[in-house]
Amino acid sequence: ILIVLGFVFVGVAVFISLRMSKRAMVPIKSAFKRQREFVGDASHELRTPLSVLLSSVDAMDMTIDTQKDEMASKLLANMREEVKRMTNLVSDLLTLARSDSNTIELKKEEFDLRPLAEKAIESLHPIAASKQIQLGLNSTDIFTVIGDPQRLSQLIYILLDNAIKYTPDGGEVKLNLLKEGREVRIMVQDTGIGIKKEDYHKIFERFYRTDKSRSRQIGGHGLGLSIAKWIVETHKGTIQVTSVLGKGSTFIVKLPDYD
Ligand code: ADP
Repeated sequence: ILIVLGFVFVGVAVFISLRMSKRAMVPIKSAFKRQREFVGDASHELRTPLSVLLSSVDAMDMTIDTQKDEMASKLLANMREEVKRMTNLVSDLLTLARSDSNTIELKKEEFDLRPLAEKAIESLHPIAASKQIQLGLNSTDIFTVIGDPQRLSQLIYILLDNAIKYTPDGGEVKLNLLKEGREVRIMVQDTGIGIKKEDYHKIFERFYRTDKSRSRQIGGHGLGLSIAKWIVETHKGTIQVTSVLGKGSTFIVKLPDYD
């Protein structure tokens, strides 16, 4: 009888503490929700003034004589760069806030990944060329996937943009599309600065940058890979990195067979 009573007592105690901890979680959950809404609303509200600022900078640029007023022209160029940087940051924050609150509806279309990859390579070609980086695509097949074309294109863009940013002049960046059975793999390989093993997981966290001073110079703000991870996971895939410091990194995205 004592043993049975003991079990009943422990059971009741566990039940009560679970109920209490569940109740205690309610204000914490709603605080998180409010915080997410705040980030989302703030980012949304910042978009309009930033685009007004950008068009004002462009308008001012047209009114000054760049030959005569070199200083003003330089200041305007700086302003344009900073406004663009902030616009990208605000847009990334908005994407993450919406992903947290599950308010982004992803498309589910069947499409070929290769034209998207070709487009990303084409649009990043000028940046790569300015650093004499060889940028290439290896893909031999049709790579049919089911998902959101815009988001998968954003994923490829983020990985290629990083590969170019973190590769010194004269290096090489390759985008490979591969098929393993029915699984599609997106591989982005670079000959860049590399990533330490202990940072492999951290780089997918928000605002994490391995070398803050260098990253600031290069221009990132540490949100690209968090967005990449979110895109991959909403497509039920995985993303991994392998790297050798000073030699280069490879990011591998595996997208499953959806049949
Ligand atoms: P950022 O805007 O700083 O590039 P990301 O979230 O895209 O932000 O990347 C996070 C950090 O991971 C970067 O700051 C950089 O330290 C590291 N990283 C990302 N891609 C590479 C790469 N291809 N080679 C070396 N380091 C990288």
